[in-house]
Amino acid sequence: MNYDVRGHLHQVLDSLPKGVRLVAISKYHPVEYIETAYAEGQRIFGESHEQELRQKVEQLPSDIQWHFIGHLQTNKVRYIVPYISMIESVDSLRLLKEINKQGARHDKVVDVLLELHIAAEESKYGLTSDDCRQLLEDGEWREMKNVRICGLMMMASNTGDADKIRHEFQTANSLFEEIRQRFFADAPWFCEKSWGMSSDYLIACEEGSTMVRIGTTIFGPRVY
Ligand SMILES: *Cc1c(COP(=O)(O)O)cnc(C)c1O
Repeated sequence: MNYDVRGHLHQVLDSLPKGVRLVAISKYHPVEYIETAYAEGQRIFGESHEQELRQKVEQLPSDIQWHFIGHLQTNKVRYIVPYISMIESVDSLRLLKEINKQGARHDKVVDVLLELHIAAEESKYGLTSDDCRQLLEDGEWREMKNVRICGLMMMASNTGDADKIRHEFQTANSLFEEIRQRFFADAPWFCEKSWGMSSDYLIACEEGSTMVRIGTTIFGPRVY
């Protein structure tokens, strides 16, 4: 192995405030990098492609908690539900319904996050704040016994402008609070704020993140 995964993992872990969990984003990185992080005690890993995830699951220990963080097509949901621990990238009611359906088939309650789209134009995926309110007001999710909405995920703008990034995290944070009070006041599991990546996770931690998704800083540059 030519990259110091162990050293970088510990640097990241040492810099996280208490209570913030690390999702080690292993997409495009080899299985041996994941094994190195696993040997250091890391258990939560994030992947963004269904096929890559399936291949890695087969080769790695079964107590890894896999988070799906990429854009998910409804026809792929069936493949990942059996071994996924959380789907962080729910961006439509249609997808939520399919996850619920597949959850029922596997007799499983699938933890999910709603993916927010706050950053200006970086991504074409995610719900705007209003989409998010609308989805929850609509209420259909309340009947879904095989999904559990645990919080929000978002990606800040890809910019060097720290004030802008901070402001986006603050926007996400206040939407989280609003939603929690309006829809999840009696649902203690609605508690996850997944924000912060390699370039901005320290700001994210200052702005309420409970879960950071870090790839490059731990595993080095991705080779596509
Ligand atoms: C790839 C990815 C990350 C990790 O990004 P890094 O900059 O490598 O830390 C985090 N979140 C999502 C949604 C991603 O797709």
